[in-house]
Amino acid sequence: MQDIQTSSSYILRGTAAGNTLRVVAIDATQIVEEARVRHELSKTATAALGRALSAAALLAIILGKKVDSRVNLRVQGDGPLGWLVAEGSAEGWVRGYVREPDADLPLRTTDGKLDVSGLIGSTGELAVTRLLDNAEPWTGSVELVSGELAEDVAYYLASSEQIPSAVQLGVYEEGGRVARAGGLIVQAMPGASDETLAALEANIKAMGSFTENLRNVSLLEVMERATKGLDFVAAPQAQSAQFQCRCSRERAVASLTYFGMQERQSMMEDGGQEVVCHWCNEHYQITPGEIAALGAPDVRAQA
Ligand SMILES: [Zn+2]
Repeated sequence: MQDIQTSSSYILRGTAAGNTLRVVAIDATQIVEEARVRHELSKTATAALGRALSAAALLAIILGKKVDSRVNLRVQGDGPLGWLVAEGSAEGWVRGYVREPDADLPLRTTDGKLDVSGLIGSTGELAVTRLLDNAEPWTGSVELVSGELAEDVAYYLASSEQIPSAVQLGVYEEGGRVARAGGLIVQAMPGASDETLAALEANIKAMGSFTENLRNVSLLEVMERATKGLDFVAAPQAQSAQFQCRCSRERAVASLTYFGMQERQSMMEDGGQEVVCHWCNEHYQITPGEIAALGAPDVRAQA
């Protein structure tokens, strides 16, 4: 049996119905487990951020036009989580964080599942920003329709990007760890027939919850179930994906240049300064020597 705790996350692609459906899916188990550990997320916060990380990775593939493009997904609801942010890149790296990592809720009494929409809130906004290295960022947003995220991302794609799609996201925890996590987006391309869309909808309905499927079969089989009877063709190569931040020790040191000389002096007298990256919760201990090496603040702007 495959050891899912040590295997890395990956993205699979495929097409169906004569290229009129495009399928992208991610096994984000390792990414979400790393996010849980890094941010010390509660159970329900793990599920919420895990769904968002999976969605960001898939949106980066669908919406990313260039190799160096990134997609930033921000969800601001009225629930106890506050907000969450997830970012994905066309290269397959993902990072993200939430406002209140400790926030949690009891299991839903209706079905005994994690109350993700309760934690996020069912009223609020989902915003998607495309970041390109050499262009202005572009943001689109929609009101939350459920707070469960999959429906919200599907609504965003349909109304803001004119991409009709089926979206599934899920995180399954076992023994306090992330056992399986991931997501799937089936995108209807121009020319998709009504019969194809009806068959896709029927498949998705028959599948039940994404998490339930991912618990029992491989990611590839989940894609096959979603496109059953629609001549699914898997792309030959999987793309690896990982939780990876853009921060570095150099950037952390450079961030201290925003402080004046007096503040830097007191940091040095205190034995250094800790800089924490919000995205990945990495703690950088900056030494007095590194602070001194920054030199004098640039005062020319004030002259
Ligand atoms: Zn970081």
